[in-house]
Amino acid sequence: MENVVIIGSGCAGLTAAIYAGRANLKPLVIDGHEQGGQLSLTTHVENYPGFPDGIMGPELIENMRKQAQRFGAEFKAGQVNEVDLTQRPFKVVAGKDTYETKSLIVAAGATARLLGLEGERDLIGRGLSTCATCDGFFFRNKPIAVVGGGDSAMEEANFLTRHASKVYLVHRRNEFRASKIMIDRAKANPKVEFVTPFTVEQIIAPQGHVEGARLRNLETNEAREITVDGVFVAIGHDPNSTVFKGKLDMDSNGYLIANHGSLTKIPGVFIAGDVQDHRYRQAVTAAGSGCMAALDAEKFLEEHKD
Ligand code: NAP
Repeated sequence: MENVVIIGSGCAGLTAAIYAGRANLKPLVIDGHEQGGQLSLTTHVENYPGFPDGIMGPELIENMRKQAQRFGAEFKAGQVNEVDLTQRPFKVVAGKDTYETKSLIVAAGATARLLGLEGERDLIGRGLSTCATCDGFFFRNKPIAVVGGGDSAMEEANFLTRHASKVYLVHRRNEFRASKIMIDRAKANPKVEFVTPFTVEQIIAPQGHVEGARLRNLETNEAREITVDGVFVAIGHDPNSTVFKGKLDMDSNGYLIANHGSLTKIPGVFIAGDVQDHRYRQAVTAAGSGCMAALDAEKFLEEHKD
């Protein structure tokens, strides 16, 4: 019987593990499908406090893991495919293993959608990014493209004009999902050029880093090539919440809904990080919410000793 099982080993899960470990709860962390979460897929992180020269994402997450281990956290590889939250102890099934736990922290994260192009994943950190806040700074005075037509794409396009010399906003339709105010703001920005209705057919990277993109007009079939140093894919995220469908409250996009910090409608089940946050999605906010979840779990266990 575990005191606390933490689902997810990204920034939120590991911070929860550090706090729960220091509270002598011997947390058990189940890694999930992407050990280390989204930080493990980034390169230089310059906005995490405490690192004046920045730190590589994988190194930052490895440090957090070691810090959690130092305080007694245990790790299991595997992906959770079933949970039973109908009674305590809760049951968590990951592959062939079933765990019983007095409390549960869900920090399963979200996965940025990619375009599904050949070689795309290998270009992450080599000109391809899913996070403007993280990587925009590296494209100072360079032309870049943002792909997508939702609020994220508009927000990223506007934000990136602070750094980039030009931003192509590439979207597959002439209509946008984004709110009018966000579209108007991007349209009014002289550095943003709207390229619609175009789809990205290929990212050009003969030397292993982004040099351009080949586009196709979906109405006229016209081909177009743009020269860019970076491609920001902003076509949405998918929260990793499928196993909680019908068990925890979620919004129409599948993001879990927290009440009062990390609490859910089930006493003893707490949530943290990007699985419950489509707005901020930062390493530091994920860490903060992981801390909150661990403190909430500790208080819950204290109040439900038997
Ligand atoms: P979203 O609203 O789901 O928009 C995703 C966009 O990407 C759509 O325009 C979609 O095109 C496009 N897309 C999806 N798959 C694609 C593919 N395979 N190839 C090319 N394009 C593709 O996602 P989001 O913009 O990340 O926003 C998510 C939620 O967060 C929304 O509720 C949004 O309002 C909110 N949000 C709010 C703010 C803010 O208020 N400041 C900022 C960011 C996000 P189609 O339209 O053709 O399907």
